[in-house]
Amino acid sequence: TETLLLQSEKLKIAGEMAAGVAHEIRNPITVISGFMQIMNGDPSQPYYRYTKVIENEIERINYIISEFLVLAKPHVKLPKKYDLKKSLDDILVLFQPEINLNGILLTTELLEGPIILYGEEGQMKQVLINLVKNAIEAITENGEIHISCSVEPSEIVIIKIRDNGVGMDTHTAGKVFDPFFSTKVNGTGLGMMISEKIISEHGGNILIESDKNHGTTVTIQLPYSINS
Ligand code: ADP
Ligand code: MG
Repeated sequence: TETLLLQSEKLKIAGEMAAGVAHEIRNPITVISGFMQIMNGDPSQPYYRYTKVIENEIERINYIISEFLVLAKPHVKLPKKYDLKKSLDDILVLFQPEINLNGILLTTELLEGPIILYGEEGQMKQVLINLVKNAIEAITENGEIHISCSVEPSEIVIIKIRDNGVGMDTHTAGKVFDPFFSTKVNGTGLGMMISEKIISEHGGNILIESDKNHGTTVTIQLPYSINS
């Protein structure tokens, strides 16, 4: 047990250092991207194509760093009671323009009344964002996304996010939680890994069922005991 403790302490320190470095990288990047934006003000200048690429890549570095910080930063834990249905509503409002733009039909099947959970709402929202985003990105045409929320008699909350997108073969489905695994041109491969980490920190599980070319259902199971 002593070596295990030592190991987890080392991991913790490594995580904190990495988070510190990520933070430090952010400041110069903010300065660089500020100047890049000024340089990109004039599309007629000869280097516009290149500076535009630089700006986009900087944006990508920023995105990876923020995803990484969610993972590595030893954030202050402030669990509270929150209404899962309200969190879901907030997320869907955020995605509505993208859903409309892609002609996706979004349907929901939620319990009457609030679903009060205990935990970190901000993190749970992050999970919902990651999953809805993946669902949208999986869709090619005639897209449908269905989201349901229910409470089992065994005091387990079940959230399902189903899409009729590209789906995955078993090989791909087995890798979704691996860090940096992505089949997308601009993917970070961190969304599912972070989601799994957050859900397991809340005492829950996340499961994937997928059918290549037919779609994917992601199921989250969370304990409903509001006092734990
Ligand atoms: P990213 O979205 O940046 O690629 P994620 O960790 O969110 O990273 O997802 C990892 C990979 O899992 C994706 O690149 C994709 O191959 C697969 N995946 C996740 N969700 C879905 C989905 N709803 N439909 C099809 N494939 C998915
Ligand atoms: Mg993703």
